Amino acid sequence: MTLSGKAGLAVIDVQEDFCEPNGSLAVKGGRELAEVWNDLLSLPFAVKLATRDYHPQDHISFASQHSGKQPFADTLMVKNPENESDDPFTVTLWPDHCVQGTKGCEIIPELDQSKLTQVIRKGWDKRVEAFSAFGPAYRNPRVGMSGLGDSLREAGITDLFVVGLAYDYCVKHTAIDAVEHGFKTYVIEDATAAIDKSDEGLAKLRKELQDKGVTIIDLNSKELDAVRKA
Ligand SMILES: [Zn+2]
Repeated sequence: MTLSGKAGLAVIDVQEDFCEPNGSLAVKGGRELAEVWNDLLSLPFAVKLATRDYHPQDHISFASQHSGKQPFADTLMVKNPENESDDPFTVTLWPDHCVQGTKGCEIIPELDQSKLTQVIRKGWDKRVEAFSAFGPAYRNPRVGMSGLGDSLREAGITDLFVVGLAYDYCVKHTAIDAVEHGFKTYVIEDATAAIDKSDEGLAKLRKELQDKGVTIIDLNSKELDAVRKA
């Protein structure tokens, strides 16, 4: 196969708070993928970006901001701050994580950042959750967009490969949004790690991605050969 245009690589949220041993929202097996991500960053992708979850201390997704609420166990319905009648989203409340200026917000040192062409910050708007690198899930109107869609289009990117953490949250939502933004989108599954590693969880996640038009591949897939030959 050949690519229809240029390929980009998005390495999602490879940050201390999403990795063991000290991360407040650590994904098992995350840090161990650093070599895989570095190998991918060595391929001739036209854009190689990383994202950082980049929250203010008083971010709405932190259970600590809501009295009596427990992380993981409690949820919150969050309306579009710019239109009360837009579809609201129920968000899981988390422990504080990836707070700007803290160690937990830093990209792990094992990732070779010298190969990155850009770093996208997300989750900086304290009013809304933002799993996707493109921006929060609201559509009417969109709020707090990262500008990633435009910057990829300006770079001539047609195909986006998504890897990183966590597969079932920010990787998933970034990939689904990438399809909506018009990119041919691939998740390289063995370059991701999920929070929910159960067979049922994985099956549901794969179906959701495929239903939304995301292609799930692995490191040996022909799509990556096309990038190597580009
Ligand atoms: Zn977050």
